[in-house]
Amino acid sequence: MALLQQLGHASRAEIARRSGLSRTTVSSLVSELLSEGLVVERIDWGRRVPSAEGGRPATLLTLDPSSGAFLGIDFGHTSVRVVLVDRSGEMLGDDVEERDVDHDASEALNTAGRLAEALLERADLSPQRVLGAGVAVSAPLRSGASPVFASSRIFSEWAGVDIDERIAVRFGCPVHIGNDANLGALAECTFGVARGAENVLYVMLSAGVGLGLWLRGELFTGQTGTAGELGHVVVDPEGRICRCGNRGCLETVAGAEALIGALGYARGSDVHLAEFLDLARQGDRGAVRLLADAGRAVGRALAGVCSILDPALVVIGGELAAVGDILATGIRELIERDTSPTAGRSYEVVSGDLGPLASALGAAALAMDSESRQMLAPGGPVAPA
Ligand SMILES: [Zn+2]
Repeated sequence: MALLQQLGHASRAEIARRSGLSRTTVSSLVSELLSEGLVVERIDWGRRVPSAEGGRPATLLTLDPSSGAFLGIDFGHTSVRVVLVDRSGEMLGDDVEERDVDHDASEALNTAGRLAEALLERADLSPQRVLGAGVAVSAPLRSGASPVFASSRIFSEWAGVDIDERIAVRFGCPVHIGNDANLGALAECTFGVARGAENVLYVMLSAGVGLGLWLRGELFTGQTGTAGELGHVVVDPEGRICRCGNRGCLETVAGAEALIGALGYARGSDVHLAEFLDLARQGDRGAVRLLADAGRAVGRALAGVCSILDPALVVIGGELAAVGDILATGIRELIERDTSPTAGRSYEVVSGDLGPLASALGAAALAMDSESRQMLAPGGPVAPA
């Protein structure tokens, strides 16, 4: 099912080839998924299966969109975003509301519930049709049966808040939580610009700076779940104190808060992020300079990661990515300059396709993924033959 989510549609032969399962196993799994109504068949008249009679049209399998939907909730620092996605990966709706998420967990959770209910109503779906919900949070998480925040300093107001419990009670479905940069990576690799790629670095540039590692077609979260904390790599040992307690982290140089703070200082008044991005697009000297420097700082940190992991693609996401090339140029320049010459290659750096929706869509993808694993687990609703 995860393969069908990634590919959109595929023939039985294609599934066997890509999954490494035998054709007999694939056939029996598909028959069960068809009888459960989770997968539907359609004839592709444009595609022929070679045979002695000149080829019959191919039968493709696709996930049945009408079999239920998944919620993706993204708790950013200052906004709550919710998306509703059907089983085939099509987005049925999305909504966002500004909130002080960092400092009011309870209100943020209420907002998410209210936005989700409104989306379901607009899509004419009852809450019982929600098969799972995914939640993205802007904080490092320790892995385990029930993930917990890895740092008491980051997202401190959320410590001890039972996010999964609160959402599960409201929608009566399984809830899965992930870090927002990891889920942004999952989204771009499932629905976006990196669909089908095996090894991808997804750098998320927002209030925080995060890195999602997609390796061998899966998220890599490390030994304890906190891999990819690029924002807390020290780049300026004499720099500012970071919210994590260290000094001179990349986030204090290239995070949105650092950039708007620096421009506000120069202009003598507070600057909001939207205003900062507008100024940069209009070519404001200070805003452009800050973004170009931020891009180079991020590129320098990423160059080391590229040398170590040899990714096929570097995807830039997050709110700052909306300014496009000003940032990307600096990132490309430093990756090009500082990666190991022995690799003998250049790295492709692209903007994500999903923009501000990435983490919420990734949260929905996490819920879809978990549900299909559950379906295919021994003793699960569809046990493999
Ligand atoms: Zn830090």
